[in-house]
Amino acid sequence: VIELGTPERSVITTCAYCGVGCSFKAELNGDQLVRMVPYKHGKANRGHSCVKGRFAYGYANHKDRILKPMIRENIEDPWREVEWDEALKFAADRMKGLQDKHGRRSIGVITSSRCTNEETYLVQKLARGVFLNNNTDTCARVCHSPTGYGLGKTFGTSAGTQDFDSVEKTDVVVIIGANPTDGHPVFASRLKKRLRQGAKLIVVDPRRTDIVRSAHVEAAHHLPLRPGTNVAVVTAMAHVIVTEGLMDEGYIRERCDWDEFQHYAEFVSQDRHSPEAVEALTQVPAKDLREAARLYATGGNGAIYYGLGVTEHSQGSTTVMGIANLAMLTGNVGREGVGVNPLRGQNNVQGSCDMGSFPHELPGYRHVKLPDVRAIFEKAWGVEIDPEPGLRIPNMLDAAVEGTFKGLYCQGEDILQSDPDTHHVAAGLKAMECVIVHDLFLNETANYAHVFLPGSSFLEKEGTFTNAERRINRVRKVMAPLNGYEDWEVTQLLANAMGASWHYTHASQIMDEIAATTPSFSGVSFDMLEEKGSVQWPCNEDAPDGTPTMHVDHFVSGKGHFIVTEYLATDERTGPRFPLLLTTGRILSQYNVGAQTRRTENVIWHPEDILEIHPHDAEQRGVNEGDWVRLASRSGETTLRATLTDRVAPGVVYTTFHHPATQANVVTTDFSDWATNCPEYKVTAVQISPSNGP
Ligand code: SF4
Repeated sequence: VIELGTPERSVITTCAYCGVGCSFKAELNGDQLVRMVPYKHGKANRGHSCVKGRFAYGYANHKDRILKPMIRENIEDPWREVEWDEALKFAADRMKGLQDKHGRRSIGVITSSRCTNEETYLVQKLARGVFLNNNTDTCARVCHSPTGYGLGKTFGTSAGTQDFDSVEKTDVVVIIGANPTDGHPVFASRLKKRLRQGAKLIVVDPRRTDIVRSAHVEAAHHLPLRPGTNVAVVTAMAHVIVTEGLMDEGYIRERCDWDEFQHYAEFVSQDRHSPEAVEALTQVPAKDLREAARLYATGGNGAIYYGLGVTEHSQGSTTVMGIANLAMLTGNVGREGVGVNPLRGQNNVQGSCDMGSFPHELPGYRHVKLPDVRAIFEKAWGVEIDPEPGLRIPNMLDAAVEGTFKGLYCQGEDILQSDPDTHHVAAGLKAMECVIVHDLFLNETANYAHVFLPGSSFLEKEGTFTNAERRINRVRKVMAPLNGYEDWEVTQLLANAMGASWHYTHASQIMDEIAATTPSFSGVSFDMLEEKGSVQWPCNEDAPDGTPTMHVDHFVSGKGHFIVTEYLATDERTGPRFPLLLTTGRILSQYNVGAQTRRTENVIWHPEDILEIHPHDAEQRGVNEGDWVRLASRSGETTLRATLTDRVAPGVVYTTFHHPATQANVVTTDFSDWATNCPEYKVTAVQISPSNGP
């Protein structure tokens, strides 16, 4: 028994793990954080939490934290600890030197979905206002960038349509490519409660995830599709709805572009899109697919929740648009209980996208080519903004290998471990002449860095995170930054070392600037968040209390847009050498590449990544339960232990990506979404063979 004593004080803040955005009371004795208690007034979690937010905060004080800046001339040299002034001057001189020699577009930034809105806003401002280019991208590139594209094209804005409360009014829940039990546990509990009350469930996933069959919950339909065939399944559902006359014609006539609908209806009605025609391709029994489509269209309020199993494909954006099409076809957008809801993996994916981290968009999803939008920021920042969209992360790496991209400031993101095709990422980083890593730990990317700037944890900063339901939650400082600075302060110091004169003294001033330049945030301030607790954007004159449900009377785009979704097979093909398909996911106790959770007690629950393989495939390869296996693809190979399970179908294998020892991304390919370059993590042709271990 550990005696914690009565806490002397507490601070309300927001979990820094997943996109549910649970509120916590951080309880302290003196300066020591003794407990994280789920906050009962938190609107996203209502007093609930999972094992990550509740217990996995110890990384903030872990001995691996780097608290002093470090520099080195070359990546082969040992690190040299220096004072902040010297590190910032070194970094600024290098970056300016590269621009003088190779042009202003030769350097760029990567923002982090782990950091606050205010920090993310400042990093893209550093690119646009100090580097004078649009080379800014976010780690959302590798997860939900297709959501940005797909929901932008169909509904007019890149965001989930509902609040979490909405699920309580849902009659039919469709989960596509998401595993909420592990990825979004607190929301999963609410979802399961609704299912126990009688709502029906359809799960579209290659793997039999926990929610397909768990305590008192059983999906009406599990469509175990072959990885890579999402578009064919979603289009076949639309085929059933249109050809059987199950669409909501009144809604479509009133709310959507009718000509586009007619064109789309003609497309999906073709026999080649019927469930029977795509059964061999998708491996989903036609009868099940047909019945699932009927249930979604006729079962009352239908709500779709989706995750990275939708977006991380070569047709990720197409599937997002296909999902939006389904919702518009059935009139399931614009009221409680319905909608299209991306389940965001990281705490601030929504916010990092909102804040203009993409190379083509300024804050509020406004294209950088629009002169009137640029004028707003030019006036606020006193600079001329480059009208040309910048480079995405994969383009930065390609350009680095080609010799035209030379310098990178990377905040709170370990691209070497989390981006696909590790060898290519390493080659890109190695080719750069100045890599600045700003992070808590000496991560894998830092192996190729020239400057290391210590970061601050979520417990050490003021700011806001925006969760998957567009809810802007306050992050409050629980302890002073161990390194001396909050992350936004470090970005400001770097900007000023490069010649800017920023004078923010508190994160609230950055939010004031966001509100002044971004219409969907114009009603947001730290004072109003103090008063209301949290608020969902848009929050402005039209919606002073925020917006729980979007697109109520009309879509942000005016009319809803149906987009034709033609299925195109990925270029990643199985064959005699690589006959199995690998897909990846997460587990409840761990988080992404594990940089935080592996440095907490949570590691006892999942000390290594495991490969799931169907018993039939295992037997053919002489693999037994617990054996070490070699997992090889066209990109590379790794070694991990196997477990035999029928959660995956024959021909499909599955693993998590939480441990650097596994380096799952050594085997993933560099294929990516056609519209956004989001990597195709979810489909890799592989072979398995017995191994003696790593
Ligand atoms: Fe809540 Fe997600 Fe944090 Fe768990 S990880 S406590 S579900 S925000």
